[in-house]
Amino acid sequence: MAELFIPPAQQLIDGEWTAARDSGELPVVDPATGRTIQTVARAGSGDVDDAVAAARRAFPGWAATSASERGRLLRRWSELIGEHVEELARLEARDVGKPLSGGRTNVFIAQGIVEYFAGAADKLTGVTLPTRTPDYLGYTLQEPYGVCAVIIPWNVPAVLTAANVAPALAAGNTVVLKPSEVAPLAPFALAELARRAGFPPGVLNVLAGIGADTGAALTSHPGVDHISFVGSTTTGRAIMRAAAENLVPVKLELGGKSPNVLFADADLDVAIPAIVGSITENAGQNCYAGSRLLVESSVAGEVVERVAELMKAVRIGPWDADLDMGPLVNEAQYRRVLGFLESAPAEGARLVTGGGPAAEGEGGGWFVEPSLFDGVDPRSRLSRQEVFGPVLAVQEFSGDRQALEMMNDTDFGLLACIWTGDVSRALRLAQEVRSGQVSVNQFADAGVIGFPFNMQRDSGFSRGGGYAAMREYTQEKAVAVRL
Ligand code: NAD
Repeated sequence: MAELFIPPAQQLIDGEWTAARDSGELPVVDPATGRTIQTVARAGSGDVDDAVAAARRAFPGWAATSASERGRLLRRWSELIGEHVEELARLEARDVGKPLSGGRTNVFIAQGIVEYFAGAADKLTGVTLPTRTPDYLGYTLQEPYGVCAVIIPWNVPAVLTAANVAPALAAGNTVVLKPSEVAPLAPFALAELARRAGFPPGVLNVLAGIGADTGAALTSHPGVDHISFVGSTTTGRAIMRAAAENLVPVKLELGGKSPNVLFADADLDVAIPAIVGSITENAGQNCYAGSRLLVESSVAGEVVERVAELMKAVRIGPWDADLDMGPLVNEAQYRRVLGFLESAPAEGARLVTGGGPAAEGEGGGWFVEPSLFDGVDPRSRLSRQEVFGPVLAVQEFSGDRQALEMMNDTDFGLLACIWTGDVSRALRLAQEVRSGQVSVNQFADAGVIGFPFNMQRDSGFSRGGGYAAMREYTQEKAVAVRL
């Protein structure tokens, strides 16, 4: 089995590793030390032209390839991912700064996603339609768009590569993937494994580069037929404006400010560790992170105390120490999170634990302490804006009505988690909350296969995750026949 190796200062276009046309390079930095560990090519607009042209050339052949054969190649890809879990996990962990165990979990998730869409490739069907009389036939075809541009952020690059590339390819599209300039290694490595799996040249192309430069060149490219974007709400708006210019459909998965709503009748021994994990996993740098804790007043004192104890016990260190939490991804993210930690008390919040840089960062690296604030003003920045760090904002409520109002008091609509022993209350709130996803007595979607990764309002609109993604990456054609 050949070792997984990403050649320095290169990108993957038309099945070949090449340098950027102008030999531009991007450093890839270990967030635990601030040191450069590798380079990749920095793609310019000429490289974007090359990648889109390669994807265009590959499209007719790939779309005409039988769905079963596309599924077979995806299955081979997933097997190769399974054979390289440790190497991929190291790349993901080192690049983002997450503990090795977290990198491993992400790679297993990515592998599962590719396997899922391997099985979905030949299940995509249209429908036959009822007709007024028997001498007519009406039916629909699900057709790929053509060249899909996929732009992803740095926080879970392996998972987001799989979640967007696999359904796009399964449905017969070709792809130009632009990972984040901050963490491109796992996406490149996954693409190399796709190459080894036997995908024809040009079906999957990957180039890295700065968003406002390479990303903008890709989203405004006339050769792109569909844009799938995962990232911040601000960039999502820019992507939509670019898509409007060429009238290209766009799928957006954006930021969040997800509430954990904790009622006094919940099993606190289960809920509290999960709530702490929801904001410290990946150092809080997850779109669905449980960044707001809404707690019923009668148990608020006890809950805040127990959450603080667990936050103090979080073991912090670099990726290879494989503890509970790593650093933030880079200096920009570090400064941003410290800004929230500094402004929160001025906005009336009470600091319970944490609140600043962590000692582990003294030798370099972007470590911050898991931080807990209570009495957070619902109008404050800490309550309303996505921090994207291990910072938890606590607010108290009394009764179901107020809990619902507070859950919905956000511009985002990604995930809401309801913790209660009363099943009727949980189901009622699940119906009334304005959120693309709801989980009850657990954080997020563990245990459900193909859970749709839905979003509402400022969190975007997407039917990613699960079988719905096959429709997201296809357009429907309606056919009417007089027999
Ligand atoms: P970002 O918006 O800064 O960048 C995301 C990607 O867009 C990167 O590849 C970047 O290079 C590119 N980009 C930036 N400007 C661009 C432009 N003008 N045109 C084209 N591309 C451009 O986000 P980030 O800081 O990398 O990631 C963090 C954000 O991602 C958070 O808001 C988080 O909530 C969100 N996120 C959402 C999901 C989800 O599924 N909803 C999942 C993970 C992360």
